[in-house]
Amino acid sequence: MQSKIDSIFTPGLVAAQQPQWPGGPDGEPVQRAVAQLQKLPPLVFAGECDNLKARIAEAAEGRAFWLQGGDCAETFVAATADSIRNRIKTILQMAAVLQYFASMPVIKVGRMAGQFAKPRSNNDETRDGVTLPAYRGDAVNDLAFTLEARTPDPQRLVQVYNTSAATLNLVRAFTTGGFADLRQVHEWNKGFASDPRFGARYEQLANEIGRALEFMVSAGVDPEAFKTVDFYSSHEALILEYEKALTRIDSRTGLPYDVSGHFVWVGERTRQLDGAHMDFASKIQNPIGIKLGPKTTPEDALAMIAKLNPKNEPGRLTFITRMGSGQIRDKLPPLVDAVTKSGAKVLWVCDPMHGNTYETSTGYKTRKFDDVMDEVRGFFEVHKKLGTHPGGVHIELTGDDVTECVGGGEQISEADLAGRYESACDPRLNHTQSLELAFLVAEMLRDR
Ligand code: PEP
Ligand code: MN
Repeated sequence: MQSKIDSIFTPGLVAAQQPQWPGGPDGEPVQRAVAQLQKLPPLVFAGECDNLKARIAEAAEGRAFWLQGGDCAETFVAATADSIRNRIKTILQMAAVLQYFASMPVIKVGRMAGQFAKPRSNNDETRDGVTLPAYRGDAVNDLAFTLEARTPDPQRLVQVYNTSAATLNLVRAFTTGGFADLRQVHEWNKGFASDPRFGARYEQLANEIGRALEFMVSAGVDPEAFKTVDFYSSHEALILEYEKALTRIDSRTGLPYDVSGHFVWVGERTRQLDGAHMDFASKIQNPIGIKLGPKTTPEDALAMIAKLNPKNEPGRLTFITRMGSGQIRDKLPPLVDAVTKSGAKVLWVCDPMHGNTYETSTGYKTRKFDDVMDEVRGFFEVHKKLGTHPGGVHIELTGDDVTECVGGGEQISEADLAGRYESACDPRLNHTQSLELAFLVAEMLRDR
């Protein structure tokens, strides 16, 4: 069966951003890890991927909104009950607010249970004259700055699988076992919105949701319906040994699915049309995303559509744009316009994080909350002008009170970053900043 799967992918293509594994990609250490992964059961069921695809198709038609959030880089040590619960809670709180003001279903997707590998601008990192391999995520090496920690270890891929399985297990328990009850989520939101630092702006919105919930109950809506939510997992399909080892033939359809997560995306640095990542994405049946940065031309976008979704299957393709607040209003319109005119069905999602990163004079990678919001606002403006659906947002966030992005109602300053900067990679919105974003996006959805 495995040779059948391997034969699906085109051999000999260049795969950007791969680790320098000891022994190389065909060496014994990698092959041993791959053989272990190939024997393990799927993390997700192909039918769930199809369900998600159907929901994305709805969103692409303007009938649902996409919310995707989680760490830039998950780590093994942070896969604790508290950390997972806080992330889930944050995403559920955001989704409740968005859903009410969008008056449409919100598709809830975690950058979770698989987001362990990172593309890097430089292969190496130098500190005080010492040069070591760059940290490429817990899937590859360890963040500590020693030669041992930074040497890629393929056995980490097996740990990615195990940590993803444990994470997903808890996510499924939380989202179906009562924790996600809409009434509970609303209580949390009321607590947030009553914080005097935000004035009455969010409190009014939260009160409105509260009245709607009371109305539904008084009208006889079965409260059991509030208890469970659908929640999907997603990550960047970066380390191809891992993703291919978890690609399986679905017994129902006879087609290949990457069962490491429901939704996978190809990043800005690995989306070369003739590269191995795009070949991989073109061969699996999952719904897939492609990150589009400011250099993307309309021709690029159309070529990606031709490669990844030649049959124009609804829900198959999501474009996640990450232009930067200064460029979104100029760079996005030609792309949306060309794609719309081509008749291709895609979901447009705004990643307001990756085009807005800068380094402080004190050496912290950060983002300004106002830049993040301005990119989202630009995204909504562009879609309004073109008559297309601003389909969703893609956010790097955590449920904890970290200090990694500046601004927001807590007015985190550059000097505050040192207080609790915990990200293994890019700066994330903290719990409060994430909820503020949700309320502000909810206003945009309401006023659209
Ligand atoms: C990311 O999502 O963490 C990332 C690296 O994004 P991009 O590929 O858009 O730079
Ligand atoms: Mn990132």
